[in-house]
Amino acid sequence: MSYLSSSEKIIECFNFIGGKWTSPDEKMGSVLCPFTGKAIANTYRSYPKTIENAVKIAKQAQLDWGQQSLRERAQIMAKFQKWLQDNSNSLSQTISNECGKLPQEARDGLMKGIEILEFAASMQNHDTMTKMLVSKGIHCEFRREPLGVVAGITPSNFPAMVPLWMLPIALMVGNSFIWKPSEKTPMTSLLICNGFKECGLPDGILNVIQGDKITVESICDHPDIQAVAFVGSTPAAKSVYTRATAQGKRALTLGGAKNHIILMPDAQLELASDGILASFSGCAGQRCMAASVLLAVGDCDHIIEDIVTKAQKFQAGKDIGAVITKQSLERLQSAIEKSVHEGAKLSVDGRYVKVPDELSQGNWLNPTILDNVNENSFAATEELFGPILSIVRCKNLDHAMKIENENPYGNAASVFTTRGDVAEYVTLKAKSGMIGINVGIPVPREPFSFGGINQSKFGHGDITGNGGIEFWSNRKKVTTKWTQITNQNWMS
Ligand code: NAD
Repeated sequence: MSYLSSSEKIIECFNFIGGKWTSPDEKMGSVLCPFTGKAIANTYRSYPKTIENAVKIAKQAQLDWGQQSLRERAQIMAKFQKWLQDNSNSLSQTISNECGKLPQEARDGLMKGIEILEFAASMQNHDTMTKMLVSKGIHCEFRREPLGVVAGITPSNFPAMVPLWMLPIALMVGNSFIWKPSEKTPMTSLLICNGFKECGLPDGILNVIQGDKITVESICDHPDIQAVAFVGSTPAAKSVYTRATAQGKRALTLGGAKNHIILMPDAQLELASDGILASFSGCAGQRCMAASVLLAVGDCDHIIEDIVTKAQKFQAGKDIGAVITKQSLERLQSAIEKSVHEGAKLSVDGRYVKVPDELSQGNWLNPTILDNVNENSFAATEELFGPILSIVRCKNLDHAMKIENENPYGNAASVFTTRGDVAEYVTLKAKSGMIGINVGIPVPREPFSFGGINQSKFGHGDITGNGGIEFWSNRKKVTTKWTQITNQNWMS
C-alpha cells in the first residue's frame, strides 16, 4: 500500500482489527485534498457488529498484554518513537495532504507525539508507586492496573498528534485500544497502525474502526469498553461525555475553544506581533489552541500595524496551509461578511488568494484581520476555526479579563507584556486551563499535561502527562499484614 498521495492513487481507509486490514461496513465518501480539491482516499463507516468483533479481539489480546512488564511495553514504545522519527517525511506528507497543513506544521504535530512517547516509554522511572509502613507490621501500597479495553475518538485537525496524546500512555499502562479517527482525515491512521505492528505491538492491542457519529455512539454504548477519550468540537464532546458516562464508562472529552490574547501597549514589538500572527494563522487557524481574539488594551496600534503588515505578505501554500473542507471555507467567508456587515473594519482581507493553477480548487484563505470587533458579536464569541483574528479594543485590563472570562470556553489565554505584575494578574484571573505569558500557543511540554476547562473539557483531569496515566488506569490500594515468624523450622 502506498501512502503518498500520488494524485492517481485512491487510498482505501479500512479498519485494522486484530492486526489485519478489513473492509468496514459502508463507504461514506471521498477524502478531498484541501490543496487541490482532488479525491485522495475513500472513507468508511463501521456499524455495531464490527465494533463488537473488534472489542472481542481487543479483550482477548489485552489479557496477555496487561500481564507484560512495563519494561517490555516500554521497549515497543521506544521502537515506535524511532519509527516515527525515521518515517516523519512520509507521515508529514500524508498529514499535510489530508488536512491541508504545511509540511512543517505536520512535522511539528508529530514532534509533540514523539514527546508523549518519550514520556510513556520512561513511565517505569517516574511513575513509581509508593509502599509505606503505615502501622506496626502493616504496609500500604498503590498498584497501577490497566482498565482493559479502552477507546479514543480523534478530530480532523491533528490526525497524528491527538491520537498520540492517547495511545502511548493508554497502551503503556496495559490496555488494548479501539481508535476511531476522523472520517475527514482517516489516512494517517493506516500509517500509525502499520508502524506499531512493525515495532512489535501484538495483534489486537491497537484496533482502528473507521466511521462517524454512528460509529462513535456504538463505541460509547459497548459494555466492554471501559473508558472513552474524545477530542473534537464542543457539542460532540458534550454528547460523547453524556452518552459514555450514562453507560458507566470513564470519560474525558475535550471540546472546542475561543482563545484570547491580551495585548498590552508595553509588549515587546517583535515577540508580540510574531507570536500573535503565528497563533491565529498557524495551521490555517485550525488549532484548538489558536488565539482568534486579540484583546488590545490601550494604544497598541504600533504592534497591530506590524501584525497587519506581516499578514499582508503571506502567500497561500508557502506561508499558510489550506482550510480542511470547502464547507469550512464557505463558513469562514460568510463569517467575514457578517462581521463587516456588523461594523468591523476589515484591516486584512484574506479572501482573494493567488495560487498556481494546480491549486486553484483548494480551500484557501489568507490571514484575515477584523478590527474594532464588537465584543458580543459572532466573530468575537464563536469558534470560527480559520485564520481570522478579531481585534476587540478594550478600555483597560479588567475589561479584557471580563471578555476572556465571560466566554464559555476555557482552553487557552495568553498575555503579551513586559510587566511581571500584569502577567501574574492575568495568570491568577484567567479562567482557562492553559496560560501563556508572551507565548501565543501555550501548549505545555510533558510532563505538564494538556487540557482546558469549562466548555473546552468535560470530565476530570488532563489528557497527557500524569493526567493521562491516571485516566487510563486504576490505582489499587493494597494493605498488607504479615504475622511475625516465630518458628523457622520450615526454612531448613
Ligand atoms: P468534530 O467534532 O466534527 O469531530 C471530532 C470527532 O468526533 C470525529 O472523529 C467525528 O467522527 C466525531 N463526531 C462528530 N460529530 C459527532 C457527534 N455528534 N457525536 C459523536 N461523535 C461525533 O471535530 P473536527 O471538525 O474533527 O475537529 C475540530 C474541532 O475539534 C474544533 O472544535 C477544535 O477546537 C476541536 N479540537 C479540540 C482540541 C482540544 O484539545 N480541546 C484539540 C483538537 C481539536
